[in-house]
Amino acid sequence: MAVWKSIGALAAFGAATANAAALRPQARSYPTLVESAELRESIDIDALVAKAEIFQSFAYRSEGKNRLVASQGHQDTVNYIHDQIAAFPDYYTVEKQPWELLVGAGANVTANNRTIEGFATTLAPAGDVSGPLVAIPNLACNASDFDGIDLTGSIALVHRGVCESGIKNRLAAAKGALGVVIYNNGEGNLKGYSLSLFEDPATPYIPNAGITQGEGEGLVALLSIGQKIHVNVKTDAELKTTYNVNAQTKGGDQDNVIHISGHSDSVAAGPGINDNGSGSISLLEIAIQLTNYTVNNAVRISWWAGEEEGLLGATYYVRQLNQPEKAKIRLLLDFDMMASPNYAFQIYDGDGSAYNMTGPPGSAEAEAEFTNFFANIAHVNHTEIEFDGRSDYGPFLEAGIAAGGIACGAEGIKTEEEEAMFGGAAGVPYDVNYHEDGDTVNNLNHEAWVMMTRAIAHSTATYARSFEGLPPRNSSAAQKRSMKYKDMREGLRKSKRFLRWV
Ligand SMILES: [Zn+2]
Repeated sequence: MAVWKSIGALAAFGAATANAAALRPQARSYPTLVESAELRESIDIDALVAKAEIFQSFAYRSEGKNRLVASQGHQDTVNYIHDQIAAFPDYYTVEKQPWELLVGAGANVTANNRTIEGFATTLAPAGDVSGPLVAIPNLACNASDFDGIDLTGSIALVHRGVCESGIKNRLAAAKGALGVVIYNNGEGNLKGYSLSLFEDPATPYIPNAGITQGEGEGLVALLSIGQKIHVNVKTDAELKTTYNVNAQTKGGDQDNVIHISGHSDSVAAGPGINDNGSGSISLLEIAIQLTNYTVNNAVRISWWAGEEEGLLGATYYVRQLNQPEKAKIRLLLDFDMMASPNYAFQIYDGDGSAYNMTGPPGSAEAEAEFTNFFANIAHVNHTEIEFDGRSDYGPFLEAGIAAGGIACGAEGIKTEEEEAMFGGAAGVPYDVNYHEDGDTVNNLNHEAWVMMTRAIAHSTATYARSFEGLPPRNSSAAQKRSMKYKDMREGLRKSKRFLRWV
């Protein structure tokens, strides 16, 4: 918002005006232009791990022992990142960018006066609603799933999965439902569960509670034999403010920005040190080391809040940018999970060669630059992963902004071929602690973390020097690609991979 507008007014290094010369620090010896090898070499595992210990201490002194969005553990993380950057006031402009979300704070569900364990839903409103329970067939992701069903005065019972739960809630509300009960699509609870989409003011959300798969299937079975079930859903929600941290170099061309980012929050289940303490800290360390150099293009660094609740911080950020501000971002690179214990070096498939999903122009070139790093500089193997919008680069793709990134892997299972390429163990998830309380400092892979951070350093230094090789800005081409991306995302909703995280 306002802060980015004000950055444009700041003189870039070397601006040939008397004012700029007067502002230049007098005794400053001119540092050198950033260069990949030097920035890479400045990355040190001890500095990374020391910060991971600090992140973990923020989680463990927080009530939920996590860094869940807007919790104390998360706020401490945000303040720490902000203060580290603010220690370089000559080099960076930095802001804490506030935005609000409703955090679920309790859900009581009764069915024919029997209490069922209910899980609060982030983004859903508080309320106390009762009515007959009506099961929605299929997955309640399309209006046609509700055809012929009158939900007036009822509570809708829907299955989790395939699309964001916010879509299910909206569709039920449009049919006259008073509340929604969503049952899980797998084992386990729904702690920290979210509707995953900001509310559309035109179709406000109705109270929403999660229940376990077992309870949900039991209710569906009773309804299918004609039993009447009267349900009460009582929910609490707290409106909380959280923050993205956005930093930008004062030096470099402010109209041509390389934007690097990752999310600062964790899930409710644990401290989230790999997901995504690792990416947050890689960015922080690069930001600190970068201050030893000058840049030709401005470097912007963002730490998003609320990724785990549906890419909320990045979505908020992209929404508040006008078209000229969007156009200044030549490339957005996102980093989520940089130190998975059973890692693979994964590059987002920006050119569509492996998964046939291309990003806006520039995304293919970003992938090629990471490939260049792994293959020709580090001399290690790499794989490609779906460019599916599963992390914070998604809202940028939808806005037609070129994007890319790398990751080490989440709940996916390592293949035999990948074991041969990277070591580790085939048949085991890349990170067995993904979204669990075991995602701690002790379970980070140091070798992977250094390699990944150096890969980020390489791309950052390369684009901070020059965007040569990236296609010129062309908003009409970008718009077309972005429409194509939305179509592909529709297709993806049917895939199993998407089902696991909404
Ligand atoms: Zn993550």
